[in-house]
Amino acid sequence: GPAGDTVLEVRDVVMSFGGLHALDAVSVEARSGEVLGIIGPNGSGKTTLLNVLSGVYRPESGTGTLLEHDFAELWGHPHVTAQSGLARTFQNIRLMDEETVSTNVRLGIARRPGIDVHERTRDLLTENRLDWAADIPVGSLPYGVRRRVEIARALAREPRVLLLDEPTAGMNPTERQDVFDTISDIRSRGVAVIVVEHDVAMMRSFCDRLVVLDFGRKIAEGKPGNVLDSKEVIRAYIGS
Ligand code: ADP
Repeated sequence: GPAGDTVLEVRDVVMSFGGLHALDAVSVEARSGEVLGIIGPNGSGKTTLLNVLSGVYRPESGTGTLLEHDFAELWGHPHVTAQSGLARTFQNIRLMDEETVSTNVRLGIARRPGIDVHERTRDLLTENRLDWAADIPVGSLPYGVRRRVEIARALAREPRVLLLDEPTAGMNPTERQDVFDTISDIRSRGVAVIVVEHDVAMMRSFCDRLVVLDFGRKIAEGKPGNVLDSKEVIRAYIGS
């Protein structure tokens, strides 16, 4: 559909761990062709929210949809969620270090009738500016490049929603910019991108919309400039 369609939505999600509300009535939506940033102090519920959106956790209450799928049928089933149009990357890179970049990306490709796997692999490498690395074993590449290989492999599934968990953690400024350029390209192809990231300055300049969590609650949402200058958000960050 056109850019701006809501492709993922959850409402009033509650998730607790032993009495502690990690998420307390949180609602978020993601739209195609948009980068939604999720920020908040340590322990505010960001990772828990990603695990709900990717189907790993089943929240105690809440509703939602991913494309035409009801989250009631996806929660607790990350593999089904992945087959329903959502791909994610993890804080710790999960690639096969002995295999080449090309092989790692190829193995992520969603098989469907008529697909030319060789051609599709080449396109994915080009789109992600990784052609030069095609035949290099992943393990011998710099960290920033491995991160981008992981993103390319997630895109191989042709997701409509891409979740990125701290995609620039541990990177130098150049590598970080490369990842954000990659995310820009992905957005321009109409994917809804959800990013959890600590680098608030980068998120301010980069995201279309921000959601701010604090103690499991959504305390602000909207355009990055407005959100980051709001009293509640400044207080949450200073208090942490
Ligand atoms: P963030 O990603 O923003 O740092 P988390 O989602 O990891 O926050 O954690 C939110 C809260 O839930 C924290 O208080 C954390 O200690 C708690 N929590 C998260 N995961 C678990 C778990 N598996 N078991 C118990 N407590 C958890």
